[in-house]
Amino acid sequence: MPTPAFSELESLEQLIEQNRHALRAEVVLTVQADGRELPVWCLETGSTDLRAPAIGFFGGVHGMERIGTQVLIAWLQTVLARQQWDSHFAELLGKVRLVFMPMVNPGGLVLGTRANPAGIDLMRSAPVEAKGRVPLLLGGHRLSPALPWFRGQVEDPLPAEAAALFEVVRARLHPHPFSLAMDCHSGFGFRDRIWFPYARSRAPVPHLPEAFALRALFNQTYPNHSFYLMEPQSLSYTTHGDLWDFLYDEHLARYPGLFLPFTLEMGSWLWVKKNPRQLFSWFGHFNPILPHRLERVLRRHLLLFDFLLHATASYRQWLPRGEQRAQYREAALARWFGTAAGD
Ligand SMILES: [Zn+2]
Repeated sequence: MPTPAFSELESLEQLIEQNRHALRAEVVLTVQADGRELPVWCLETGSTDLRAPAIGFFGGVHGMERIGTQVLIAWLQTVLARQQWDSHFAELLGKVRLVFMPMVNPGGLVLGTRANPAGIDLMRSAPVEAKGRVPLLLGGHRLSPALPWFRGQVEDPLPAEAAALFEVVRARLHPHPFSLAMDCHSGFGFRDRIWFPYARSRAPVPHLPEAFALRALFNQTYPNHSFYLMEPQSLSYTTHGDLWDFLYDEHLARYPGLFLPFTLEMGSWLWVKKNPRQLFSWFGHFNPILPHRLERVLRRHLLLFDFLLHATASYRQWLPRGEQRAQYREAALARWFGTAAGD
């Protein structure tokens, strides 16, 4: 059975309460939904030094993809427990800033919608126009909030939830010499995909070699975790208004360092295939329903998050330079943009 609405907010606030000493917790926005005031939390632990690298974990941008929020709460729980007894881990956290925004769109979560309470799909709401044609509706549109993937009207301000996320990224990730973001979603395809920009265009990002290097590092370090398909989002489809496209480009224009945003798209069609009854449940299209499957999904990505945390802390050790960077760029172009592109 689906967990009751609000259980994620309750577990998150319980975790905050129990770990006041270890967390820097702040409500960055409150939203109204279902007659209630709902907090958008931003939590931090680890270093506060702007010269240190930083990593941000985001979830619940799409309200009904609750599994994203749940995997982040599970990960936060692991981080908090481990820093209490594992002296190596505590030392690691002294060198890297950790930011969590596990429930960006609590109104959508409570209402069980993808969009925010105003009917706007946050992931289509940034002021970014796609190059070329995007898929009808799915790519983002300005027709009506009654249809999914609505971007809002041109004259509308950025939705408050998206603005809050922008502020968090601008203040807590962008100024660092190296930062990663991981935004957790579910609902597309049979595979767990890790997407990086661009969503707006089929052109490669300037930091293609760095994305390729991180992928190679993961595959070399964990050769038996090949279930992730890491690629530019545009290989699946292009969209208008992608939040991470906007933040990537903004960082590029303002800072010399590196900011690489990723989205994890947990392939929920797999859960539907294994449990066809989920076809009759809207919630079940985006979330695992059976308890053993939920538990499996909650632990499945912990290793990836742990890897990203370590890769962030040790970024100087693996970032490609000079000749190697050129080689990675060639390899990445061949894999994702050339004739050799594919799985
Ligand atoms: Zn999503």
